[in-house]
Amino acid sequence: MEPDFDIQKLRSGGFRLTPQRLTIIEVLREAGGHLSAQETYRHARERLPGLTEATVYRTLDFLTAQGVALMTHCGDGHLVYEIADQDHHHLVCRTCGQMAEIEHSLLQDLYDQFMRETGFLVETSHLTFFGQCPKCVDG
Ligand SMILES: [Zn+2]
Ligand SMILES: [Zn+2]
Repeated sequence: MEPDFDIQKLRSGGFRLTPQRLTIIEVLREAGGHLSAQETYRHARERLPGLTEATVYRTLDFLTAQGVALMTHCGDGHLVYEIADQDHHHLVCRTCGQMAEIEHSLLQDLYDQFMRETGFLVETSHLTFFGQCPKCVDG
């Protein structure tokens, strides 16, 4: 991924690159993983004092709708956000909430099979599977 890919995406969509949007993209990028809206707000406020929580929530919604950020449910009703760079999926333990990531390549055969059997090109590249982690299965 080019470093400014997400910013170009917004620009080519004709959207204004407000300081709020840029700051939140930066925060998510530097986190390199998933952040809750609360965490995003905490980090973003350090860079852009005066930023309100409502603006952060609205901006996260906006970035998700534009495909710049990805949103995931992590089981307990919380949502986490991250920059949309590489395709991956999540495994979430329903008992303890532990999260793991799997690479999309593990599901590629399945996607190919969908295509063969239905002709449907599945574009969803960010799924969450719920279940039991190894510790909770044993416990
Ligand atoms: Zn994710
Ligand atoms: Zn567990």
